[in-house]
Amino acid sequence: MSNLLENNAYRILGLDTTASQKEILRRYKEIINRLEISDQPVYELDIDLPKNFRNEVSVKNGLKELQSAKGNIREYFFWFQSSNGNDKKALKFLIENKPTKAIQIWKDLSGGNTVSSLLYKKNLAILYCLILLKDDNSKYLKDSLSIWKEIIDSEKFWDTFSKSYSTQNEQTISEENVSRFKESVAEELSDIYADLGQRHKNNNYVRNFQEVFGTHGKKTEKDVMQPIYDEISTKVEQLKKIKITEEGGKDSNTTRIIKCENCGFVGPDDGFWGYDDNSIICDKCYQKIGEQWTEKVDKKLQKLGIDEDKRKWYATILKIDEIIRDIEKDLSKLRKTGLYDQPASKVVRDRVAEVIRERSVELHNFGALYDDADRLIRVAAKISGTESYKSGLRADKAKIQQTMEEDTKNLLTVEISGFFSSKYVEFKPRFVEYDGLKILYKDATEISLSGIRSNFSTTYTFVVVSNSSQISFSFSNNDIWGKLSGLSEQRIIPVIIKKICDQIFDDDETISIGGLQLSKKGYSRQKFLGGTDDVSWEDKIYIPRFSQGNVVVYKDRDGRGSQFEIIPMSTLNAVILPGLLKECVERAYSKGIYTPKNNLSQAQSTSGTSQMNSEEYYEKIDRAERPRLLREFLDNGGKKLTETEINALLLLRTNGSNYVHVDSQILGQLVEKGYLKREGGFTSTYVIQAKGYKILNWVLYKYK
Ligand SMILES: [Zn+2]
Repeated sequence: MSNLLENNAYRILGLDTTASQKEILRRYKEIINRLEISDQPVYELDIDLPKNFRNEVSVKNGLKELQSAKGNIREYFFWFQSSNGNDKKALKFLIENKPTKAIQIWKDLSGGNTVSSLLYKKNLAILYCLILLKDDNSKYLKDSLSIWKEIIDSEKFWDTFSKSYSTQNEQTISEENVSRFKESVAEELSDIYADLGQRHKNNNYVRNFQEVFGTHGKKTEKDVMQPIYDEISTKVEQLKKIKITEEGGKDSNTTRIIKCENCGFVGPDDGFWGYDDNSIICDKCYQKIGEQWTEKVDKKLQKLGIDEDKRKWYATILKIDEIIRDIEKDLSKLRKTGLYDQPASKVVRDRVAEVIRERSVELHNFGALYDDADRLIRVAAKISGTESYKSGLRADKAKIQQTMEEDTKNLLTVEISGFFSSKYVEFKPRFVEYDGLKILYKDATEISLSGIRSNFSTTYTFVVVSNSSQISFSFSNNDIWGKLSGLSEQRIIPVIIKKICDQIFDDDETISIGGLQLSKKGYSRQKFLGGTDDVSWEDKIYIPRFSQGNVVVYKDRDGRGSQFEIIPMSTLNAVILPGLLKECVERAYSKGIYTPKNNLSQAQSTSGTSQMNSEEYYEKIDRAERPRLLREFLDNGGKKLTETEINALLLLRTNGSNYVHVDSQILGQLVEKGYLKREGGFTSTYVIQAKGYKILNWVLYKYK
């Protein structure tokens, strides 16, 4: 996302607004020449520039804006104006990274209603907004809004502004240009604040903006817009209450009217039966015609081409569509009254787009329902109001398209030649099908991939097992082998690893793979002459390797990995061992069973550093780290974490950027508090910030 302030053309060119067209052009050429030789120029006013901010495209666009009469005035308005020694002094503090001193100067000078004080005020408001790009600060938010409001409403300011604009700028100034800009400036500002609010996931930006700039008190606002906004709000809340998970859809709305579709009975909602097509019948009708109703629904869904594996989400998708249709009716009322593009309406439209986007992300991530995700994101893009938000959604759309394309590419149909006839294996987005048998990837419990070499060729065998069925076939094409192992790595093996880790660490079970037993404590094997040989998760763990049709598991002996157990790859789940051991170490660590240390190694590693036991380790942390960590924990911007948030951070650390199991609201809170950073658009990776890691170390210590 971007906004006028962040991507201001003067900022891109490293100039203040006193620069002449000649200087602008000279600076442009200079930057382009230096970029060509990969030399990133740095200028005085470069304060906290975003990454890759200055590139060929942004510099060209910047120049273009400044050369157009309409763009020029916008860029000029939303950037620092260095009119005299005082401004220079303030800007110098900014360059020295002392923003509070710069604020003080402009603040001291902006008392009263003199011509120069109004221009200082504008600089001050711009500085506040630049700081808000980075830091969520409620005082700066309020102060900046009241300044903007004051100067925009001041005739004196516009007089001064248009005079200084025409003297400092050779653009032919028409009064008309200035007055047209004056009309649109509130809208430009509303975009900036909507963008800031989204960055910090903080509704106060929009709310405060509306309070200050809203046409509050005016007739239209009160009589026309507000009732429509309220209606939309109610529906947005309904959409929020629908949650989509791997298990299907859940609608926790209590206010929806429930009516029997067979007899029309409306009553308390505990006597009703819901069906996969979103139809509902009352208990009386269910007793009478329940079975026929089921058949009818089955037939209907079949006709619509709803796969069995899509059914559990289908009713929810229908509900979402129904609510969106209602919202669209409200939006068309706004359109009819000509209020659709009012700043306040745009903000409301962004809110609608955001909840639709959330549902789309869920359909994409949990259900692999790419078509529906794509459809919803398009709806969201159409509804969204501000340009900055629209561009975010465009990125989302592209991301979904990419997933869909990759998915079709990854789809695989393999012909398995038989004695009498051929059979086909098909890998679909959510399941594998062979010879009339179907296994959903998420139901897989065991897998094997192996090859037997004879004199002339290799025969490969693929087996995947679920609780209710098994698919198994052989083939000899090496390319198919490559594709199959890729698909398994992506879709099947992670599922099985997660299940087995849950069994081991949550249910305290012991799991056997070949001759290897895995438990909460570690892994072990039976010794030839009785007794067991054990490896603890606390030991140095070597990642198993594939070698000559076997999986080799290691044990640490004097800092070297020595062979511990050899399991044929044809053994069920042998091929998941490398990933499984990695995950087990992570789980043992995150559950606080063992201390954090770098105990994952490649088999060749010969590192012989002596290892401390856990008590020594914690003692060491206690002495060296505890005071510092505790201090940071307590004064980390005054932002304490709740138990839930701490658990979410721990989970995120275990699962890397996979935030699937964490509620999006919690993620938002963590971003707001600065423990997490959001990267990218759609599948949204979240990264734990440095200070988040510090907290986790401290928490692990405390809970031990
Ligand atoms: Zn009924």
